[in-house]
Amino acid sequence: MKQTHRASCHCGAVTFEADVDLASESRRCNCTYCAKTRYWKSFVGTDDIRLLTGAGNLSDYRAPDSLWPPGHIHHYFCKTCGVQVYSKGFLDQMGGWFYALNLAVLDDVPPEELALVPITYEDGIADKQMEPPRVTAYL
Ligand SMILES: [Zn+2]
Repeated sequence: MKQTHRASCHCGAVTFEADVDLASESRRCNCTYCAKTRYWKSFVGTDDIRLLTGAGNLSDYRAPDSLWPPGHIHHYFCKTCGVQVYSKGFLDQMGGWFYALNLAVLDDVPPEELALVPITYEDGIADKQMEPPRVTAYL
């Protein structure tokens, strides 16, 4: 069941609410971007993230060599502290626009609950998001 959580970047300039079901699934991926940022994402709908403060403090990065059409995935991060808060993307197989929430920026979830979030591993480097990579322990 979705619950509303508070989230923020490290410096606190960017704050938002996110509706997410932490008992459903999260994803760790070995693609070049997710591996370098240690991204821990959960897909949510476009109505599930509501920015509270810091709209002007957000910048977005679009990987030129994205596995998807360039420009379709926007990685939003705080200009001051550099912490990525969520990505917004468009994929037909996801039903259009979606957010990939960074679970690491949730402020009100205790470690015991974070430890129970199911993780699905994606072999993004091989463009096989539905299959786990050979090695997952480092992700
Ligand atoms: Zn910040």
